[in-house]
Amino acid sequence: MGLVAGKKALVLGLANERSLAYVIAQYLVAEGASLAVTYQGTALEERVRRLGETLNDPLAVPCDVGDDTSIDRMFEVVGKEMGGIDLLVHAIAYAEKEDLVGPYYTVSRRGFHTALDIGAYSFTAVARGAVPLMEAQGGGAMVTLTYFGAEKVIQHYNIMGVTKAALEASVRYLANDLGPKNIRVNALSAGPIKTLSAKGVSDFNSMLLHSREKAPLQRNITPDDVGRAGLFLLSDLSSGITGETLHVDCGYNIVGM
Ligand code: NAD
Repeated sequence: MGLVAGKKALVLGLANERSLAYVIAQYLVAEGASLAVTYQGTALEERVRRLGETLNDPLAVPCDVGDDTSIDRMFEVVGKEMGGIDLLVHAIAYAEKEDLVGPYYTVSRRGFHTALDIGAYSFTAVARGAVPLMEAQGGGAMVTLTYFGAEKVIQHYNIMGVTKAALEASVRYLANDLGPKNIRVNALSAGPIKTLSAKGVSDFNSMLLHSREKAPLQRNITPDDVGRAGLFLLSDLSSGITGETLHVDCGYNIVGM
């Protein structure tokens, strides 16, 4: 029996085979879950459907999290096709490229709103949509992806750090709201790992180098580190854990000097 055998999962954030959402999705499928996945828009549809072939051909639905109508439509389809869902993965962020370089204080009002809307508010919006589908299953578990730049200054991470701080606070408020419904909500704080989004952060290679040097495990994290920890937070192995931010960073965050 798999760790999530018979569970139904909704996974948001697939773009390509490096996406952290894809890694977690692979672990969920390997441990017995059936999936629905979303893609941001038609430009990504074909690629996500192709990835789906390695995930037992999940239901694939468009969803732009910056658009309430798109979120509502996605949940309508998922509700109709799957009945309910047990698990939710939110692995989505976006910031304007010019806001991920130079000093933080130059961020524009528009850039600030965009990053917070797509990277933080969207988790609350999607969690709200998922609640009735999880209640239909008697409860569930949600995970979002965050980064250490929420807690400490990381050069160039800038507005994404502010966004992740809001996201992590949302996790705690959502966990408090949804605990009585037997829904757990956690964040997985991943160390730097080369993905499409990571390319947008300027000097990302220095982040990789520095984290490998400073981390107690003396290496950078692998996609599998994220997949396993995601599976842990979504399975009953973490049944007593909610509102938590779990660092999956080879210990980087515990080191001072
Ligand atoms: P990725 O580029 O593969 O995934 C980002 C996803 O966000 C893409 O699938 C993209 O389509 C989606 N997205 C962006 N705007 C959207 C919108 N308006 N509507 C719907 N989807 C939208 O990169 P990733 O590194 O796998 O990122 C996933 C999550 O992990 C992000 O929240 C990121 O901040 C977080 N994270 C990444 C790292 C890292 O180093 N890669 C570290 C810690 C946390």
